[in-house]
Parts: sequence; structure tokens; C-alpha cells
Amino acid sequence: MSQAGVRSAPDFWGVLSEWDGIGAVVRYDRPTGAWIFVALHDDTLGAPTGGCRMKVYERPEDGLWDALRLAEGMTYKWASIGFDFGGGKSVLAIPHPLEGAERAGLLRRFGALLNTLSGSYNAGEDLGTTPDDMQIVAQVTPHVVGLDPSGGKPEDPGPYTALGVFVGIQAALEHRFGSAELAGRSVLVQGVGDVGAPLATSLAAAGAEVLVVDLNAERATAFAAEVGGRVVDASAMFETECDVYAPCAIGATVNPSSIPLLRCAVVAGSANNQLLSDADAQALKDRDILYAPDYVINAGGAMAFALIHQGVSDEGVLRERVSSLRGALAEIFREADTEATTPLAAARSRVDRILHERRQQDPR
Ligand code: NAD
Repeated sequence: MSQAGVRSAPDFWGVLSEWDGIGAVVRYDRPTGAWIFVALHDDTLGAPTGGCRMKVYERPEDGLWDALRLAEGMTYKWASIGFDFGGGKSVLAIPHPLEGAERAGLLRRFGALLNTLSGSYNAGEDLGTTPDDMQIVAQVTPHVVGLDPSGGKPEDPGPYTALGVFVGIQAALEHRFGSAELAGRSVLVQGVGDVGAPLATSLAAAGAEVLVVDLNAERATAFAAEVGGRVVDASAMFETECDVYAPCAIGATVNPSSIPLLRCAVVAGSANNQLLSDADAQALKDRDILYAPDYVINAGGAMAFALIHQGVSDEGVLRERVSSLRGALAEIFREADTEATTPLAAARSRVDRILHERRQQDPR
């Protein structure tokens, strides 16, 4: 698969000057050589809250850029799903994969930094971090969301995110084809990890043909066999005919290079920042491809974490609430049609309305 057109971040100052959030906390972790970035985008609805990503980046600037963009996405996500949290995200930009005592040490120092911020930011699990990692952070600081209230192991958000994407795909199919039926539909899932795997399993169980792409060829082959799907070569991914392209791996796969190649009717997946830029939403509309805004369709895990934080622990209740994303997306698709705009613009104007109203009530 070509990632042509994907932009890398400018230098530190360039990255920060392009961003209009509250601010960022930057710390170099000398023992591991990792950079810790905590990005605080907006606190209109509440304390900035979002996942902690651990990843090897080519340059620290790329990690900071990721944190800032993801924090902004969290502002829109919380507003879209009606929770009183603000937009925040953290990135542990590690120099190489960390294990054992080295990894635990970084996580503890990250937790100590959160204590210094006194609740100005709450962290949760994200790409590259695990429930075990968040338990280590939680030994040091109370500013962690997604923990089992009984003090057990933190929840894995993946299955809840997958459920949200599943119902989001149903909403998109219904809007695009007049029926949410999955039998007879084909869905290309890029990335069969924490979200993509349970998503693909549910899609296959509902009768969809599942096409699998994963950087990890062994995982792709084993997983496709498990769900009765088919592996697609990454280099031919965009040109592969399917009803739905579900990006569940990395961001910015939908960009000016890939859009002309797409042979799908719907783009609906879990990846954050699926579009390289907002202009890509119009390019998809021009090609009559329905796009489910990423920060809405992938909100299931965040929603479950927020509910757990509020004391909801019944799995049936959590799944029911996450399934409400289907209705939220259906409304966004309808609004986009009524306003002759893109679903991304419709989702964004709802968010802007919500934030505006709250700022009017609580002028600072
Ligand atoms: P993961 O790391 O568990 O799985 C990612 C999978 O994608 C892996 O199997 C990996 O091999 C594969 N992959 C990575 N790069 C690839 C590429 N270039 N081409 C094909 N396959 C590739 O991650 P996850 O938790 O499943 O998250 C997937 C995406 O969804 C991420 O963008 C993440 O930010 C987003 N997301 C996840 C959650 C969640 O609850 N985990 C919530 C919201 C958004």
C-alpha cells in the first residue's frame, strides 16, 4: 500500500505554531531516551482526557504532532458523544520498543508527571499501551480512566470500539444502500489488531465477506482463515473492490493519492485521523463515497471508559450505550444531505454548536 501524500511534521516550533489548543507539556525522559508529550486541546466540557500512545517515531516532532492532532480529535469526540470531558492526549515517543523494568520505569515517571498536572489531564490506554501498562501508571496517579472500579485489571477498549465501528458500518450501509444488512456485503479491514480483529469477527458472523490487510502477514493469514475471509495484498488494497473500506490501523490512508483509486461505497473504520486533511472529505463526497467521521465512529472505547469512570459496570448497559453510535451517525449522514455538505462538516458543526453553547453558559 502506498502512503504517498502523508505529510511528516515540521520542527517543534512549527508544529506548535500550527495548533490552537491550550498547550502542551513536554518532557525528555533521560533514563529511556523517550519524549513524553501531554497535549491539552480544550477544556470547555471538562478536564482534557484521552489515551496514552506509546510508539517509536522517526523524529520526536512527529510524536508531538501526533499528540496535538489526536488531542484535537478527542475534543470533537467527547462533544459528539455528549460526555463532559475535554480534548487531551499523551504520547510516549520511545527510541526503541521498551520492555520490563525500563518500560515500567517510563510509565511510572509518566504517572508522576500526571500528578504534577493535578488532574488537568486524565490518561487511558491507546495504541502501543496495554491494560497492564495503565495499571502501572495507576499505581502512581489517580488520573487514569478505564480502570475497573473494583480495583481489577483495566478494561480493554478495543472490543467496545469495534462494536461502535460495527454499528457505524450498519448506519452507513443503511444510508448508502437503504439496508443495513451485512450478508452479501464485502468489508476490507485494514489492521486486525485490538479493534480490527473483533470487528472482522462480528462482520463475518453477520454474513459479510471479510477482506484482510495487515502489515503482519502471518496475523493476516491466520485471522482470515479463522473468520473465513480472504487476505488482500497491501499493495493492491486501495484498488480492491469492496462495499466498505474499514481503516483500523494507521491514520491518513485516505488522501489525495489514495482517493482516486478507491473502489468502495463507504469508508468507515476505527483509525484516528483517517483523512490526511479535511479537504479529503469533499474529495470522497465528489466520488460518492460515504465517509463516517472517525472521531464519531471510533468513540465506542472512549464512551465505555467514560461510563466505567461514572460507575457503570454492567456489560449489557455499556454495549447498549455504545450501540447508540449507530443513531448518532445516521443523524450526521442525514444532516450532511440536508445541508448539502460532507458528513465531516456536519459532525464538526454539531461539535461547534455544543462547544459554543457551553461557552455561552460558562464564560471564562
Ligand atoms: P493495534 O496495534 O492493536 O492493531 C493495529 C493492527 O494494524 C496491527 O495488527 C498491525 O500489524 C496493523 N498495521 C499497522 N500498520 C499497518 C499498515 N500500515 N498496514 C496494514 N496493517 C497495519 O491497534 P488498535 O488498538 O486495533 O487500533 C487501530 C486503530 O484504531 C488505531 O489507529 C487507533 O488509534 C484507532 N483507535 C483504537 C481504539 C481502541 O479502542 N483500541 C479507539 C479509537 C481509535
